[in-house]
Amino acid sequence: MGQNFLQDDDLARWMADSLQAGPEDTIIEIGPGLGAVTKHLIGRSRRLILVEKDARLAASLRENCREHPSIEIIEADAVSLDLRPFFQYGPLKVLGNLPYSVGTTIMAEWLTTPSPVGHAVFMLQKEVCERVTASPRSGDYGQLTVRLQARWQASIVRHVPPDSFHPRPAVDSAIVSLQPRNRHELPVFDEHLFSHLVRLGFSQRRKQLKNVLGQLPKPWPELCEALKVTESARAEELSVAQWIELTRLSDPHPLHDTPQSAGEIFDVVNDQNQVVSQATRAEVHARALKHRAVHIFAFTPSGELLLQKRSHLKDTCPSLWDSSAAGHLDAGESYEAAVTRELHEELGLKPSASTPVFQARLDACPETGWEFVELYAVTISPSRIRFPAAEIEAVRAFPIDMVAAWTAARPQDFAPGFLRCWHEWQALAPAPAHEPAPENVRLPETSPPPS
Ligand code: SAM
Repeated sequence: MGQNFLQDDDLARWMADSLQAGPEDTIIEIGPGLGAVTKHLIGRSRRLILVEKDARLAASLRENCREHPSIEIIEADAVSLDLRPFFQYGPLKVLGNLPYSVGTTIMAEWLTTPSPVGHAVFMLQKEVCERVTASPRSGDYGQLTVRLQARWQASIVRHVPPDSFHPRPAVDSAIVSLQPRNRHELPVFDEHLFSHLVRLGFSQRRKQLKNVLGQLPKPWPELCEALKVTESARAEELSVAQWIELTRLSDPHPLHDTPQSAGEIFDVVNDQNQVVSQATRAEVHARALKHRAVHIFAFTPSGELLLQKRSHLKDTCPSLWDSSAAGHLDAGESYEAAVTRELHEELGLKPSASTPVFQARLDACPETGWEFVELYAVTISPSRIRFPAAEIEAVRAFPIDMVAAWTAARPQDFAPGFLRCWHEWQALAPAPAHEPAPENVRLPETSPPPS
């Protein structure tokens, strides 16, 4: 369990300080152990959650923290812990002097998109920190580097000698700080396809990429010209931005680059939802004209609700969580046709892959963005979800009680139109009969790799 306990109290305090947590934050410490860092975290924030796998250490922490109601102790394996309940606490401050055997796995799991983490400070083996922060064309630069740096700004903030621990580890350590990258710094990309290509590319790092990436939708020379690399390039020669560009050039989704089109034509309706004219998307939104839209709640067979995180490129409610799929009706389109189209465009589902279980109508109001909404709840058969990267950053399934707790605690995380639909659904929908899903099951999130 990598139980090398920190014995340098100044360093423990420094590490706690480096998290820069305020009174409104929720802090999670992974592997608190005997509490060397924990004691410097107490009282800094409104909630402190300690995740410890060792039953004896967890019991002793419970005993020692009895008088602190703001501390919660979770006895669990941080590798497989279900992180979805943490979204309701807002962006988390996460700290851990991680067990070295599983440190890389914990870091990758906790920082995978969509992640509830807002800032992480991890102590790890020095070599791992150097891999996380490496530059192209260096021996340390690899899959971990590219996948983390695509989403996180990583820097080594301190080196730590073995003498700082008891028992003394055989290796040097370092502390790495990870902050989310500004989404506007890099173009949008399909996360699933990106991971697939990076994994393939580094699977045989001595080989040229053209021999390991398999068949791509465009000829290799054309891709190399666009990326400005030689045709003999190896994985370590591509910068993170070039890996992202390679993903974008290989993305087969027809809408992968189109968050919305201001020129789309919608039907404008009156107070009775009767069509009176047509106008462009831009005009309808600028003049708050009443129009029509669908929202779809897609439930997994085990009764979990798929939520989508809107892309930061959306013209309305960027980066907020929303219904599984939603969209305006095109001029002349029926609500039913829009449901079929949106399920296909936004989740990649065929009409036969879903069964309607509930339907409701919502009048146009400011929360719906002056849309007359028809809300459909459907159960989807297990299938691969694929979505356009420009419209949707992530799709994730959440149990109903988790959505209820999250919407109540942080309504600001959700698009107002979704909240309006959610409250309607909660008030009117029959209680779902389903088996609880096993913990931490993730639906496949994006498009399949090109074959
Ligand atoms: N934070 C303490 C310190 O700095 O002295 C302990 C750090 S020690 C390197 C790693 C801690 O992680 C131990 O308390 C160990 O029991 C715990 N641990 C090991 N594997 C874990 C896992 N998979 N999930 C959660 N905690 C784990």
